[in-house]
Amino acid sequence: MNDNNEALKGYRGRARQCLSEWKVTVWSDVRIVNTAGSVFEGVILPRSENFDDLHLVLKQKTGYNVGIHVDRVSSIEELGYKKAVYKIPEKEFPSDPALPNVTLLGTGGTIASRLDYRTGAVIPAFTPGELYGAVPELADIANLTTKKIFGVFSENMGWPQYAALAQAIGDEIEAGADGIVIGHGTDTMGHTAAVLSFMVQQSPVPIVLVGSQRSSDRPSSDAALNLIHAVKAAGYGSIAEVQICMFGPTSDQYGLLHRGTRCRKMHSSYRSTFRTIGAIPLCRVSRDEFQPLTDDYLRRDPARQIQIDPVYDDNVTIVYYYPGMKPNLIEALVDKGYRGIVIAGTGLGHVNKPLYPALKKAVEKGVHVVMTVQTLWGYAQMYVYDTGRDLLDAGVVPLDNMIPETALMKLGWVLGHTDDHGEVLRMMRQPINCEITEREPHNGYLVLQGGLPETEDFVKGHWK
Ligand code: ASP
Repeated sequence: MNDNNEALKGYRGRARQCLSEWKVTVWSDVRIVNTAGSVFEGVILPRSENFDDLHLVLKQKTGYNVGIHVDRVSSIEELGYKKAVYKIPEKEFPSDPALPNVTLLGTGGTIASRLDYRTGAVIPAFTPGELYGAVPELADIANLTTKKIFGVFSENMGWPQYAALAQAIGDEIEAGADGIVIGHGTDTMGHTAAVLSFMVQQSPVPIVLVGSQRSSDRPSSDAALNLIHAVKAAGYGSIAEVQICMFGPTSDQYGLLHRGTRCRKMHSSYRSTFRTIGAIPLCRVSRDEFQPLTDDYLRRDPARQIQIDPVYDDNVTIVYYYPGMKPNLIEALVDKGYRGIVIAGTGLGHVNKPLYPALKKAVEKGVHVVMTVQTLWGYAQMYVYDTGRDLLDAGVVPLDNMIPETALMKLGWVLGHTDDHGEVLRMMRQPINCEITEREPHNGYLVLQGGLPETEDFVKGHWK
């Protein structure tokens, strides 16, 4: 065993101690027996970004990673040593004056990395050359410039990152980019798309967020196709809004472009995870064509002047109501200095009676409290029941069909401008890009989103 610091790369504390005790290192091919007698075989991977100091991570022969708690290790036997090759073949990204210039801004997430097939180690694949090596088709679509802004999984995005990203988008567009692609983890891509819709307005060109649900070591990875669709939408698409581009159906027939203020991740593992809520998606995109699903969007117009407004107050939160919630939760938020509370209420926008006085007091103390619905589809309609009216009387303001995360992002952005209650509510209720719509289209409930035709095929296949 090569027992030096470098060989235990990234391992800290007890995990590091465990590797040393059993005289194995990162890249050792091992057989681990746990305290229950189960046997795991595979290669010990380097510590990843979010790794604690209590687990060893093993790339198994099946291709899946497993984390083994150091307390459950009963023995480790070294079978060999398989060091990963970190380098992706870099090819020079060709430049063609006939193609549009697209800038890819990287923030991290699965899309920003490529896994080494043999070991499963994550390799950053981000320079133009690396991307060209991984997805050569991109060079036929656009001249791609890449810039890494952050390298984080998306739960680590936050207000300072949103502001920096908005600024970077503005700089690239001012410098003449024909379109922007933002590589982003999918988990919080909806939050980022929403906040960018407020911080970046009147864009002359498309701004397209893209990610991947499955890492590129899996044959079913959506990384390459999503990237191809996104670069196409950024370079040639006519929709100059902040939008999300991800798989439409579960199969790889086409991608969907979703409006940034109305989009949400709806499945933890399906590739077709993003869905437009309370509206229809903007467009279908495939390698060869765009199929617009609406004509209600901001058109590409190189003459338009972009507006970057990256202000925020991060003292905002969502309260996802549940039966039995106690008023001291609201009181604690007020005591801790929260300035804005988005409630995701039940049904048409309800919470239990014991919360009313606490909410009333919060409003009296100048906290801005708004109501959204946890059904996601539909409107907060607080005039329907007495209970809703009581909440209105307490000063809780309904946000119609704004989705809760979009409301949170908008409230943080609005509070960066003003703390005046009347002005906050006016700005919250005045839509900037369809975050509130007058009505939901009859086909807005998951129709046209790649789901239903597949369901019909499935049902037909089982019809006797
Ligand atoms: N957890 C990852 C993230 O959101 C998942 C992904 O990249 O899709 O960053």
